[in-house]
Amino acid sequence: MNIFAQKAKEYRQFAAETLSTIVKIQSFSGREKDVCQKIAEICEEIGMDEVRIDKLGSVVARLGSGKKILAFDAHIDTVELGDLSAWTREPLSGDIDDTYVYGRGASDQKGGAAAMITAAKILKEEGFNQDYSLYFTFTVMEEDCDGMCWKYLIEEEKLVPHFAVSTEPSSCELYRGHRGRMEMVVKIKGVSSHGSAPERGVSAAYKAARAALAMEKLNADLQPDEDNFLGKGTIVVSEMKVNGPSQCAVPDQAMLYLDRRLTWGEDANLAISQVKEYIKEAIGEEPESVVMPDYDKTGYRGYEYFQELYFPTWKVEEDHHLVQSGVKAYESCFGKKPVVDKWTFSTNLVSVCGRHKIPSIGFGPGDECEAHAPNEKCRIDDLVVCAAFYSSLANTL
Ligand SMILES: [Zn+2]
Repeated sequence: MNIFAQKAKEYRQFAAETLSTIVKIQSFSGREKDVCQKIAEICEEIGMDEVRIDKLGSVVARLGSGKKILAFDAHIDTVELGDLSAWTREPLSGDIDDTYVYGRGASDQKGGAAAMITAAKILKEEGFNQDYSLYFTFTVMEEDCDGMCWKYLIEEEKLVPHFAVSTEPSSCELYRGHRGRMEMVVKIKGVSSHGSAPERGVSAAYKAARAALAMEKLNADLQPDEDNFLGKGTIVVSEMKVNGPSQCAVPDQAMLYLDRRLTWGEDANLAISQVKEYIKEAIGEEPESVVMPDYDKTGYRGYEYFQELYFPTWKVEEDHHLVQSGVKAYESCFGKKPVVDKWTFSTNLVSVCGRHKIPSIGFGPGDECEAHAPNEKCRIDDLVVCAAFYSSLANTL
């Protein structure tokens, strides 16, 4: 066990209490102001070199001033509470027992934030590889539009890390990729006619039905990536609408909403062209349009910043310097190799690594299955493991 792992053990209670404090502050997506203020305060208290809040509302804290940048990221927004009757404790209790901290966001992913803060405290006291500036980002609106906070930091604020670590829940395994995703709106046209004489019209409803079945076929035809690390992409028709001039008419407009998961090698252009091709085969013509809609909600600071609903796939090879440094850092803390795997869900790394090709890994406390579920909780031991890992990684890279 190295000094970082020892220190992290000593700070077990600090990590648990930090998590409890920020779980108690409600922070649904786009409404994170209070929790951001609290986190900024904690970062000031532990002596970070710079603490600020960006225009979107994320907290950006820096330790050290080396030439290279290593960023640790936790999104601090949460989904809403869901069915209140399914919770056995008050959803924002922040209760602590011997094993867990309880409440919405405990695993997804304020636990990562608490472990990052604990690591920063350790690094402040023990020092770290001075070649690096360490950025600790506590980001907003991830649950609604993963990666937008980092698209903003990279493209608008020119904060371009050399390496990044997402602290989303990974059960303390080291992750090196996940599938991307995108949303599409398909529009299909028909010709309306009086309901009493359907033969004079062309029904957009029947075309839409055939188009939907074509998406079922496309889903079955999608293939996994070459090494089957990320697995196959998928496509789902998540909503359909048809309408026309009256309910006593042949409808002339149809809309299909599609959720597409993208494996390695698949991107937006490919996915859109597949949809067009399969629909053309099914209805004899290309749909009127296939577009990615925009995410257009503004956050708590009211700053207008938008992006299309496209979240590119990312992956880093197992022999990459960052993955190997992660393995080494873990080994020096715990005397064994970490499990190296991938996430099922999507994270801010769609932007950092998927869009901007910045080598990234994932390592976080708590379990992916706790995310968005009632009675969410996070193991305190995981906070200790992650605080040790983050501070050790900063000295291993
Ligand atoms: Zn999350």
